[in-house]
Amino acid sequence: MSETPTSQPEQQRIAIYPRSVKGFYRKIKTAIVILAYSVYFLLPWLRWERENGPSQAVIFDITARRFDIFNFTLFAQDIFWLALFFAFAALLLFFVTGIAGRVFCGYFCFQTLWTDVFMHIEHWVQGERPARIKLAKSKWNAQKIFKIGLTHFLWLVVAFSTGLAFTLYWGNAPDLIVEIFTFQAPLAAGITILFLTLTTYVMAGIAREQVCTYMCPYARFQSAMFDSDTIVVAYDSIRGEGNRGRHKPSKELIKHDKRQQAGYGDCVDCGYCVQVCPTGIDIRNGLQYQCITCALCIDACNTIMKSVGYPEGLIRYSSENEMQGGNKRILKPKTIIYGLSLIVVAVIFFWGLGARSVVDVSVRQVRQPLFVVLSNGDIQNRYAIKVNNKTDRQMWLTVSLRGLDGAILDLGRFDKIHISPASSATFYANVKIPQKKIRKENSRFEFVLKDLNEKSKTWTHEDNFFTPKKLVNQTVLKK
Ligand code: SF4
Ligand code: SF4
Repeated sequence: MSETPTSQPEQQRIAIYPRSVKGFYRKIKTAIVILAYSVYFLLPWLRWERENGPSQAVIFDITARRFDIFNFTLFAQDIFWLALFFAFAALLLFFVTGIAGRVFCGYFCFQTLWTDVFMHIEHWVQGERPARIKLAKSKWNAQKIFKIGLTHFLWLVVAFSTGLAFTLYWGNAPDLIVEIFTFQAPLAAGITILFLTLTTYVMAGIAREQVCTYMCPYARFQSAMFDSDTIVVAYDSIRGEGNRGRHKPSKELIKHDKRQQAGYGDCVDCGYCVQVCPTGIDIRNGLQYQCITCALCIDACNTIMKSVGYPEGLIRYSSENEMQGGNKRILKPKTIIYGLSLIVVAVIFFWGLGARSVVDVSVRQVRQPLFVVLSNGDIQNRYAIKVNNKTDRQMWLTVSLRGLDGAILDLGRFDKIHISPASSATFYANVKIPQKKIRKENSRFEFVLKDLNEKSKTWTHEDNFFTPKKLVNQTVLKK
């Protein structure tokens, strides 16, 4: 097969010119491409009103150290949730791969989605596969320069739009786009657009299947997740080859029953399944790591089977076991383990995200000096209280003490504390105990912070009040 790519990276790459195909899986793939592009390009423009914060539905604001995703606001300190989300995504990938092979690669991977669009552009400008092969082999002339030039120009337009759209997630899109086109945007925005334009152009336009075959690590370690029950795109070799192998549909061998009587398989050796393959492999040679399970060869073969009046499904989604006459087995120990782990991580993630505190309070006792004996004999301890407001509203808090008999709280010139949205503030609190109230060396007590806007919301922090032993003894003796 001249279009089959080499299996060794050091060998010369053979160009692939995939033929277009119609069918059920092609329709699904097209629907996913349209959905993915619509979401990716339109999301930065979706407005979302917030009391305090950007009015963009999805925005990753690096300078404010906050990510807004609809009603969720994540701050830099919420990085744990991001890590947990990636753990969840990785487990989901393992779980799905164990059951249904590389469906992610075939339908949802950015590389697949963008390469698909680039191939459509190529097809639209240069024509169907034979026309593209002819154009590639022809000498350079005005027509070739125009067609190849227009293809690369349109690829660059899509690549640039991809980089631009990505950048718009990192600032207020309507302002940022004006700044970009008037060259007033930050340098980082320009570098990001340039980088993504080049990588998209190279990966989806030039490298294409080479990215899946040689650069993507997933293709290499997927075998660890595969077993004989994993659903993959497979050629039914028993049916396709018969006893005497494949045969072109000659006059005598076109009828299905005649063909079977003659001992030939159902594969008419048309090569359509190979011609539509974006990675250029022949699925009839068995499962290969280059296969991204895009299922276009199923559509191709079904088209041929329909045209010659044979049953469809010579190439189909199936497992190795099923192809050899066994039963479909979805629930396997490995799948159950992945599934249970997925449920555990999902529960922790969604429960934790819902229950996460919108305010972090930390208190540190000032230790130099640990205590001060005031002129009237009272003892004073000093505390640094840090409050992190993770909401997008102004926050006013009152502070009080609990569990320290006779203690007086002194916040300096404040009687309540103000913290701006998505920011933190540190303030100092002096806690004094009159001499006559001194009981013991170390007293446990609590700071109680109350939200003035939502009075039901309180946060407590337990700490120690320290009194020197000598003073405790004196006070006890006096009593
Ligand atoms: S062999 Fe079939 S499923 Fe695999 S990549 Fe090629 S066309 Fe897609
Ligand atoms: S498309 Fe079907 S019939 Fe044609 S070569 Fe492939 S497997 Fe055989």
